[in-house]
Amino acid sequence: MSGGLDDLVTGAAAALMAASSATHVSISERVIADLVSHFGVDFGFLRHNDHTIHATVLVAEYPVRENVPDPDPIGVVYFAGADSIFAQAENLKLPDVVRPDAANEDYQRRVEEGSAIPQTSLACVPLLSGDVTTGTLGFVKIGDREWLPEELNALKAIASLFAQLQARIVAEDRVLYLAEHDDLTDLLNRRALIAHLDERLVAGARGPVSLLLLDIDRLKVINDHLGHHVGDSFLKAFVEQLKEAVDLPAVIARFGGDEFTVVPTAAMEIEAAEAFAKRLQAMLHKQVVIDGELLARTVSIGVAVGEPGRDRASDLLRRADEATSAAKSSGGSKVAPYNREMSQRYAVRDDIELHLEETIDGNTDALVVHYLPEFDLRTGEVLGAEALIRLQHPTQGLLMPDSFIGVAESINLAGKLGRLVMRLACAQFSQWRSRGVGLNAVLRVNVSPIQLVADGVVETVATTLDEFGLNSDALCLEITESVVVQDIDATQKTLTELKNLGVHIAVDDFGTGYSALTYLKFLPVDTLKVDKGFVRDLGTDSGDLAIVQSIMALADAFGLDVVAEGIESPDAAKILLDLGCHRAQGFLLSPPLDAAAMESLLTKGAVQLDFSNG
Ligand code: C2E
Ligand code: MG
Ligand code: MG
Repeated sequence: MSGGLDDLVTGAAAALMAASSATHVSISERVIADLVSHFGVDFGFLRHNDHTIHATVLVAEYPVRENVPDPDPIGVVYFAGADSIFAQAENLKLPDVVRPDAANEDYQRRVEEGSAIPQTSLACVPLLSGDVTTGTLGFVKIGDREWLPEELNALKAIASLFAQLQARIVAEDRVLYLAEHDDLTDLLNRRALIAHLDERLVAGARGPVSLLLLDIDRLKVINDHLGHHVGDSFLKAFVEQLKEAVDLPAVIARFGGDEFTVVPTAAMEIEAAEAFAKRLQAMLHKQVVIDGELLARTVSIGVAVGEPGRDRASDLLRRADEATSAAKSSGGSKVAPYNREMSQRYAVRDDIELHLEETIDGNTDALVVHYLPEFDLRTGEVLGAEALIRLQHPTQGLLMPDSFIGVAESINLAGKLGRLVMRLACAQFSQWRSRGVGLNAVLRVNVSPIQLVADGVVETVATTLDEFGLNSDALCLEITESVVVQDIDATQKTLTELKNLGVHIAVDDFGTGYSALTYLKFLPVDTLKVDKGFVRDLGTDSGDLAIVQSIMALADAFGLDVVAEGIESPDAAKILLDLGCHRAQGFLLSPPLDAAAMESLLTKGAVQLDFSNG
């Protein structure tokens, strides 16, 4: 190799070694420019072979053509159907020189179309990676040019430098991609999301930046019960539908296991973001079949906004997280926008966490039980009462269970709290009965999932019934659907022991979790409580109607009672009656009552019901 060619190769090596994924095209252009000028040719190009789509793709060229036709006839050229010169790029192994000749007229014509260059000569050198031709480096001269063997050798050396660069960039891009994407779903990951938010929140950027944090309800149950591969396909199906449902430009990321974020690309106020979230939520609420199992899929969505220049990514994410927690703790399948009260609520939560144990132990009046009556829709007869715990807070007033049951569970007080509710409610019921009130009514007590798997629940129930002289068939325990399937063996054992005591068992919020249809056969369950989410809009939502219908059919097949929760409209009541569901609770019939009001209702025994004005 002559000194000039040596320098050429060394110069190219130095330039290409410094190239990165972001700069390789412009650096390649510069190297090609040097080569074009050194060899005194008119045009140089670098093409990569994409063997997945069987095409050669233009990467860099010099001089960069002006007025490139669209589509560029020499941009992506598929091997099949390409003329001989482009087609041979697929497997070219040795340098090839083409000089004007009638045999390659078709090639000449294509180049002329793409570049308006007439009769040309061409030197082409393959980029090789092992046995695979990964691309071509080529030089075109208008008119004829002879290529010397040492010139072609220099080009071979430079082509191998280009091949190395190409391999390095593929590897770098892959690493970059993996660093920013989630393996399972191919969505951006948490790190990439935070980088995106940082960018959106710099001072001077357009705001507010809104963020939706979606949390799939009860994914853990699916994973635990059906295995992770089912959980994985559930997630993948979810992501496909999420992408479809997102109907405006937005960045979608997987934030964590069952958490996803959607960040609209345009500035958006919280009201618009909330409306968007509601749209998504409705579209994602589906019964899905995974691995032959029917699963109810719902998501809870928290919505928050951040101001560029004022908020950081972490502020926005924390708010969205609080909003999502609020959505989840109010039963899931909800949309909650972040608001100021939420930060207060979290302060209250801390306060509860600090004092709950002494409240339970202290035997104060702070924990009270209210009762939600259950009626026969046909006769208005009061059939029972469900014990619902409330916490009288010194500054916040009467707190609903949503705001403290989760706390109790998280600090291991679920068992204690559960025992207290059981005692308070049984004491109350036995008092009423001693006065001849509610002799035929059933007492329903909610049992937290944690309580059910903890030791001693059977004993607690037995001793409490005994202590207050209550007949065991006066008591019905309500367990949520998800717990039924979390640990089926343990659940079956505990429920069977409870059943042997003579107490009734109801599955609460039925239809919301993993529909443990097949397990209903094995578990000693007496009653299904149709979740209020399906009951509320029964008059207007045909999907809900179909679900309630199938729950009724299911109950019938297994010989179970059905209670409808959350009747709010006469329409819903009428439809339930038509479907043969006679037992119900709901604000239309009665709100939860304090003990005194419940006692008067039980004393009356029945109310007048009239659903005709619906
Ligand atoms: P749940 O067992 O499904 O109880 C019914 C909830 O629905 C009650 O809310 C009740 O006030 C509400 N509700 C009744 N009718 C309607 C209606 O027409 N529309 C609407 N939107 N809601 C209605 P609450 O008292 O806030 O209880 C929430 C949940 O907290 C309960 O859901 C239950 O899972 C849990 N819980 C309540 N007390 C206890 C308890 O002592 N121990 C345990 N472990 N959980 C409890
Ligand atoms: Mg309940
Ligand atoms: Mg319920």
